[in-house]
Formats: sequence, C-alpha cells, structure tokens
Amino acid sequence: MHNLPALNRTLALWRSHRDTIALVPTMGALHAGHISLVKLAGRRADRVVVSIFLNPTQFAPHEDFTNYPRILRRDISQLTAVKTDLVWSPSVETMYRSGFATRVVPEGPAMVGLEDAFRPHFFSGVATVVAKLFIQCRPDIAVFGEKDYQQLKVVTQLARDLDLNTRVVSAPTIRERDGLALSSRNAYLSTQERTAAPVLYRVLSDCARSIAAGGPINRVLEDGRAAIAGAGFALDYLEARHADTLAPISARREGPIRLLVAARLGKTRLIDNVAV
Ligand code: AMP
Repeated sequence: MHNLPALNRTLALWRSHRDTIALVPTMGALHAGHISLVKLAGRRADRVVVSIFLNPTQFAPHEDFTNYPRILRRDISQLTAVKTDLVWSPSVETMYRSGFATRVVPEGPAMVGLEDAFRPHFFSGVATVVAKLFIQCRPDIAVFGEKDYQQLKVVTQLARDLDLNTRVVSAPTIRERDGLALSSRNAYLSTQERTAAPVLYRVLSDCARSIAAGGPINRVLEDGRAAIAGAGFALDYLEARHADTLAPISARREGPIRLLVAARLGKTRLIDNVAV
C-alpha cells in the first residue's frame, strides 16, 4: 500500500473491530532478522503492519543510500510466509511532501558519542521518520531489533517523550551460524571480507565473558580493539555502556553493561552489540 488515504481506511476498519496493531518499521532488503520481528509482532497484536521505506534523511551524502538494495517485490514475497496484514511502502514524495520543513532532533540516548559521533544526522533522520510512521499508523506496539541498540533506545525515548501511545518492544539479534549479525549491508561484503566479518561478534563475546568474569573493563576493551584492528577492520568504536542509559561505564557495579561496536571492512560499515 502506497498512499495515506488507503492506509487510513484500513487502519480505521481494524480499529472499529478493536484489533490491536503492531508496526515493524524496516528499510526493506528483508532478511531473517526482519522476519523474526514480524513474527514477534504477530504474537503480540491482532494486526501486523510492516513498513518498507528507504529513508533518505538518515543517510549522509557520502553514505550508501544510492547503493542500498531495493528489492520490494522480493521483500513482499518473503512476507507472504509470515503473518503480515499490510505492507506500508510510501514513496519519498508521500513521506516528504514538497516543502517539508520539520525535523525531530532527539537528545538523551541519541547524544552519547556512539553512532551519533560517526553519523551526526542519522538519529534526527530516524526520529523524524519513526515519528511520522507512528503518527500515520498509531500502532499499539512497534517492534525494533536490538541489533541497532542505540536506535532502540532513541525510539523508545521518542515514543515516551512525544506521548505517541505506542509501546516499543525489542527483539533479539538474529545471527548467521558463524555469529555475524544479519544485516542488509552484509550483501556488500566481498568473499574475503565475509570471512573476516564474524570477528566482530567473536570479540564482543570474548570481551563480555572476560568482563563478566571480573576482568578490568578498560584492559579487556583495549585487547578487543586490537583484535578487531588485527582482523583488518577500521574501528569506529568498541565501548562498554550502561545498558539502559548508554552512559560510559568503567566498573561492573555501575549497572548492567552493553558492549557496542562499529567498524568498517573495506567500504562496509558493520555494527553489533551484546549484553555482558
Ligand atoms: P533496517 O531495515 O536495517 O532499518 O532494520 C529494520 C529493523 O530490523 C530494525 O528494528 C533493526 O534493528 C531490525 N534488525 C536488523 N537486523 C536485525 C537482526 N540481525 N536481528 C534482529 N533484528 C534486526
């Protein structure tokens, strides 16, 4: 479905039946990670809306908006295998009508020096489009993946701060057998890069284990950074943060810890995270 009047008609019909609605926002190029979110949505609500919108405002000019895989027909056929009541795939012009001049600029978890330090426009692009999707669909719940951990925190805060009446539900990261987190961007990896890519998760898991066993966080992370660089990555960050606030953390007693990493292999930027 591509236009707002049709979306509004369908949603109004569902609401007249008192059906609960779940939204799963995606940028398409769907993989098993996305499908797990759709399945979770189907267990939690009567109706499942999957949005597929490649959002130009969250990409910087030098990033991969142009190359990002656009395979809407294949995405829709994948969704026929799971309960999906509606695929909302608006055009860029529907989302950003001529003269569009409003942006949501999130603070708090969007300003902690992780993704925001490397992609300064990213979270305002995400927050603006997610606010629009929530307002368009007014879902009871929206499902987001832990794979994009900082984004999960940003949209949770957004829904609360703007009284959007949507509860953000998180879903665990789905991985390849070798640990690599599924991502639409994995398609960019060369054969050689694909062989190196699982190092990220291996290092995260090793660091989490060492910290859980009482290892000093700073030293453990320094070793982790060296291992990632040694595997051929250009590291953006490997950090230990408070799992709820994303504040820097230097000792286990300061709270539940999340380890987050971003690194580039050739032209491909990968992110991942694990709980300690
Ligand atoms: P994207 O299409 O990359 O914007 O992702 C759409 C949603 O799918 C986001 O909530 C992501 O966190 C989630 N997602 C992406 N990759 C995975 C994965 N490997 N496992 C679980 N969720 C994922």
